[in-house]
Amino acid sequence: MEKDIDRILWTEEALTQRVTQLASQITADFASCPSPPILLGVATGAFIFLADLVREINLPVSVDFIRASSYGSSTHSDGAPKFSLDVKLNIQDKHVIVVEDIIDTGNTLCCLVAHLKKKGASSISVCTLLDKPSRRKVNFELVGNGKYYCGFECPDYFVVGYGLDFAERYRNLRFIGVLKPEIYKM
Ligand code: 5GP
Ligand code: MG
Ligand code: MG
Repeated sequence: MEKDIDRILWTEEALTQRVTQLASQITADFASCPSPPILLGVATGAFIFLADLVREINLPVSVDFIRASSYGSSTHSDGAPKFSLDVKLNIQDKHVIVVEDIIDTGNTLCCLVAHLKKKGASSISVCTLLDKPSRRKVNFELVGNGKYYCGFECPDYFVVGYGLDFAERYRNLRFIGVLKPEIYKM
């Protein structure tokens, strides 16, 4: 797998350090809320980030997943995502923190927030490991007094590792790196 990587953008150590900081910020921000937040991971990409993040949050949080798919095995979004797995927990009047691997065009998150808002969440925050602001096409809204947390701003390269895939591979890399273009142009 490593041979398919052009260069590493964030090492395992850098990821651990940043995830710990995000978790401390979330702990501080939600400590005084009467009901602890629900962390809603967007499958599959957020699974490693979510697993590391929740273990550093010092609050009795709940965890759930939602599945949105728009990419298939290509490297570009094809518009509105489908929700092939919906939230299991009742999020009405709850604080929801959507946990994403990466925000690219913003399509997925925009649809996801609208979907969760209809279910009556009292606030919707977003915690994304990576954000590619240069590629944004649609803006997402935060609901209630929802907050925005971002691990790192990502340059406009197709990145893999730490949960992020190309054609379902490379998720188990411990770092995040740029995939060699010849791999996805094959
Ligand atoms: P958006 O709807 O914001 O365009 O795309 C969000 C989803 O696209 C992410 O959750 C992720 O699954 C995928 N995506 C966007 N950019 C990248 C990237 O650089 N690498 C990988 N592996 N997935 C990406
Ligand atoms: Mg995602
Ligand atoms: Mg993917």
